[in-house]
Amino acid sequence: MKIALIAHDGKKAEMVTFLRDQLELFKRKEIELISTGTTGTFVEKAGLKVNRVLSGPLGGDAQIGAEVAEGKIDAVFFFRDPLDKHPHEPDIAMLMRLCDVHNIPLATNPATATLVFHQLLK
Ligand code: PGA
Repeated sequence: MKIALIAHDGKKAEMVTFLRDQLELFKRKEIELISTGTTGTFVEKAGLKVNRVLSGPLGGDAQIGAEVAEGKIDAVFFFRDPLDKHPHEPDIAMLMRLCDVHNIPLATNPATATLVFHQLLK
């Protein structure tokens, strides 16, 4: 099961808290993680192995979007910061659109991500 983790700068602390709250579940060997560049460093600091792609503004969201389109990702946990502007807004919209095109679970906040994650593990 491959899960993509992305957090905007204003949401990285929430991502770390979310991961630490379910660290043992995330460490299960059937779970593979992929992250945008900077988010990935936080995921590693939380104690998890992750495949890091480019930073979001440099194309990381687009790389993850491509994997969604190719059917390689089972869920996307994308903690967006709705109170900030992002230069890569088109890439963000593309990633969310591709999740909808391919019916891939997309959680944009920790409350939803927790529900989706636990359901996925059932
Ligand atoms: P980052 O990218 O993990 O490299 O900060 C996330 C984003 O801004 O989409």
